[in-house]
Amino acid sequence: MDQKKFAVDVLIIGGGIHGAGCAQALASRGYSTILIESGQIGHGTSSRSSKLVHGGLRYIETGQFSLVRKSLRERAILEKIAPDLIHSRQFLLPIYRHNRLKRWQLILALSIYSLLGGLNKNTRFKRLSKSEQNNLAGLKKDGLIAVYQYWDAQTNDLALTQAVIHSAKQYDCQVLEQTAFIKASQLTSKTLQVQARQNQQTVNIDCQLLVNASGPWIEKVQAQIDFARSGPEVDLVQGTHLEYDQAISDDIFYLESPDDHRPVFIMPWQGGTLIGTTEVQHRGNPANSQPTEAEIDYLKKILFHYFPAYQGQFVQAWSGLRVLPKHPHKAAVRRFAKQARETVLHVDNSFSPQVISIYGGKLTAYRATAKRVADLAAKRLGRAKKLADTSIMPLQSPQK
Ligand SMILES: Cc1cc2nc3c(=O)[nH]c(=O)nc-3n(C[C@H](O)[C@H](O)[C@H](O)COP(=O)(O)OP(=O)(O)OC[C@H]3O[C@@H](n4cnc5c(N)ncnc54)[C@H](O)[C@@H]3O)c2cc1C
Repeated sequence: MDQKKFAVDVLIIGGGIHGAGCAQALASRGYSTILIESGQIGHGTSSRSSKLVHGGLRYIETGQFSLVRKSLRERAILEKIAPDLIHSRQFLLPIYRHNRLKRWQLILALSIYSLLGGLNKNTRFKRLSKSEQNNLAGLKKDGLIAVYQYWDAQTNDLALTQAVIHSAKQYDCQVLEQTAFIKASQLTSKTLQVQARQNQQTVNIDCQLLVNASGPWIEKVQAQIDFARSGPEVDLVQGTHLEYDQAISDDIFYLESPDDHRPVFIMPWQGGTLIGTTEVQHRGNPANSQPTEAEIDYLKKILFHYFPAYQGQFVQAWSGLRVLPKHPHKAAVRRFAKQARETVLHVDNSFSPQVISIYGGKLTAYRATAKRVADLAAKRLGRAKKLADTSIMPLQSPQK
């Protein structure tokens, strides 16, 4: 059987936004780097998100201030380095009589959000005037008390991931698609031996450091690394979006489900409309994640509750999996919405890591996460010559 052989400083497993970010950060620091992806770049969770580049207003409620501050800082960086890919959007928050979140709570949350974002023009919020409120096309007016407006951003998550990969390649990162990680073992005290499969071919990669960025597959991949310590237990939480063919607005509506009061977004998307998302525990193979009938009905009901005269036709539904480190209070009724969204970096050895595994995280914060990974990598590989700084490297849509 044919074999391919490589020898590099770092091997990254997974071509989602985290793998792409790590490839860019490590290659631009001068380490020789390979990324392997079992399918196609970005076709896992990183093309199934809500596509928001945001601080996450709802995390204010759970006190995750540091996550929000970091994410808003990253939003500002991405707006500068990727203006073609990151689009500033008005977010509209209608307050109805039935809302769980009361008006004063919302004003407090928006004020904290604004403070954490550094009080600039992109973090200001305001209440819409009565005439602006009445002009919101099709929004249910019954029970409507007020509408607040603030700023966040939207992207094409797949295009962003591809752009980051494109940037990594400029620094000589090799990217192998359709190449699945099989197992890793220790070859010498310095070198790890990794086996992967590309079609029918075996691919052998010797490296000094392994980055496990396989998203929802993280536990499966971790189990195939002989010397890795197992990481935190995780919940895989499915989130579904529905796509419709007609636009409602250029703005993003941030609404509360009238039944269970979960936050839901209604967003413009490629000339049509997206509504999402849900939170349903997923068990088993991540590849089998599929929207359920119950999720589809739940989202349809919310869409037509708030936009009763909307004429758009349903196009498709798709789902992605969040990786959330398990809640410490197992007896408590699980509210996934309340679980911490901070990225956990798990290492086999904090002084000189051989395996760095990325648990959870946000699309918005990928660059900051990758920077933390590259800082950890330097502990094992030594400081390489820094060729570029990812906070100022422009990112371009691969279609250009
Ligand atoms: C419904 C939903 C909505 C979200 N919305 C937002 C949002 O609006 N804003 C935001 O900031 N974040 C959002 N997130 C979070 C964000 O999307 C994820 O944190 C991020 O996309 C995860 O990227 P990843 O690279 O870790 O995983 P993935 O994108 O899943 O990438 C992992 C990759 O590893 C590959 N892989 C798996 N096993 C192997 C193997 N054996 N060999 C080689 N490759 C392998 C997979 O094929 C996959 O491509 C959302 C998440 C979900 C689920």
